[in-house]
Amino acid sequence: MGRPRLVAGNWKMHGSRKANRDLLEGLVGEVPKVRGVACTVCVPFPYLGEVAERLKGTAIAWGAQNVSEHAQGAYTGEVSAAMLAEFGCRHVIVGHSERRHLYGESDAQVAAKFAAVKAAGMTPILCVGEKLEERDAGKTEDVVARQLDAVKFEDGVLAYEPVWAIGTGRNATPEQAQAVHAFLRKRVPADTSILYGGSVKSQNAAAIFAMPDVDGGLIGGASLVAKDFLEIVKAAYVKA
Ligand code: PEP
Repeated sequence: MGRPRLVAGNWKMHGSRKANRDLLEGLVGEVPKVRGVACTVCVPFPYLGEVAERLKGTAIAWGAQNVSEHAQGAYTGEVSAAMLAEFGCRHVIVGHSERRHLYGESDAQVAAKFAAVKAAGMTPILCVGEKLEERDAGKTEDVVARQLDAVKFEDGVLAYEPVWAIGTGRNATPEQAQAVHAFLRKRVPADTSILYGGSVKSQNAAAIFAMPDVDGGLIGGASLVAKDFLEIVKAAYVKA
């Protein structure tokens, strides 16, 4: 059995009740036809309940984009892992570069979030990735190793997301992605799915997913358009 292939959509802070309904309508009937590829959508907190209802009994799982590292208490504006689990949440993105760099999340905080998600019985999708200046300085492996080693990684999904490729339209080449995935592969359990994220589109997905250590993708912008997201999910199947 190969490693599980997964395509995860990260809607970020996009959507509305109507836009979400339309997007999911375009996905639910089609995703079951893509056998061998699991699919999940990580949605903004207010929509979790509605999306969970719509996806009940379908082949599409759902998840959150962030979580508190604390179990409960006076943390205004935060959402705990137990709250997400109570709704049937499957995946939670932790350590996305927008959280690390816009909101100052530290490696230690990301590690605590990872542990909180696991303790609540959900699957964390841990993001690691270097900034452009770090790549240019030859520090890519140091950075992703530091981010990964901060976490007691097991039973999770790992996503390599070079910061310079996220939302920029400039994806890593398949070879660049493969090199970092191969490096990460040696540091995680053998059955870990490692996703690539960063400007994946229907046009470049197949080439990236064809790399031996790439097991699917974490998709931002292109996950907001049903047709594009479906093409990407299909591209993950081609590898099987
Ligand atoms: C992301 O948000 O994780 C991401 C990879 O975004 P995009 O696909 O838009 O680059």
